[in-house]
Amino acid sequence: MSTTPLYGGIEAGGTKWICAVADAHGHVVATGVIPTTTPQETIAGAVRFFQDHRPLTTLGVGTFGPVDLRTSSPTYGHIMATPKPGWAYADVVSPLGAALRVPVGLDTDVNAAALGEWRHGAGRGRKTIAYLTVGTGIGLGAVANGRLLHGLLHPEFGHIRIPHDRTRDAFAGSCPFHGDCLEGLASGEAMRRRWGQRAENLDDPMAWELEAEYLAHAVMNLTYALSPERIIIGGGVAKHAGLLAQVRARAFDLAAGYPATSVLTDRSAMDAYVVSPSLGDRSGITGAIELGMRCRP
Ligand code: ZN
Repeated sequence: MSTTPLYGGIEAGGTKWICAVADAHGHVVATGVIPTTTPQETIAGAVRFFQDHRPLTTLGVGTFGPVDLRTSSPTYGHIMATPKPGWAYADVVSPLGAALRVPVGLDTDVNAAALGEWRHGAGRGRKTIAYLTVGTGIGLGAVANGRLLHGLLHPEFGHIRIPHDRTRDAFAGSCPFHGDCLEGLASGEAMRRRWGQRAENLDDPMAWELEAEYLAHAVMNLTYALSPERIIIGGGVAKHAGLLAQVRARAFDLAAGYPATSVLTDRSAMDAYVVSPSLGDRSGITGAIELGMRCRP
């Protein structure tokens, strides 16, 4: 039992839950990993972890989705329809809050990552930033004027439409809903199905040039729709050496100088506009802890 108040966070992923406790400055003092099995087992594992790290003041959860974030909804804090066995309509928030008796802050995993980077990472000091994750799927989290972006639900930017030149790329797309949406063309799953190997093993320059083309369109759509001061691109696919440089170069050309802001008229300014997460793989858990701190009593 600690003598100082602790703040908990969970990065609730589809294969594992990363649990962490931090001090009031956000410094992580303990972490634990729980495999994602059934909701009952996984939540019980998380509760045991936090019961060993008390006194806990708040808990924040950044979860895989889709998840109901409408606080007025009877199913607030529930996972919504998901193909993940056992998790459709599972209540994540109330069992944690009831067992640990703390306020629980909740958001999507990618909004948590956006918040982590905005508070402690590559988005520090800016009002509006976007965090795009390019992994098995593609997701967007955004902080707009210091607040996480919500609305009808949460952003589902992975499903926007981008130009698909079928003479250059005959792959029909991997999205079960839309085929060749952004996620259907540019996610790790799309790359695996198009090229027959996982993105991390892929070194064909043509494959990465095509990936940069699609992500550059995503960057420009984000720029025009949201006007972020910085775009952070994380996720496993985005770790490929040289990819972000190609994305910046192509996005600069696509912008064609409009509007006349420095990032779109000066190639070197683009380097500071489209960046990697400075917290590396810790963006999500850092943001989850912050989500909890934001509902401090
Ligand atoms: Zn789609």
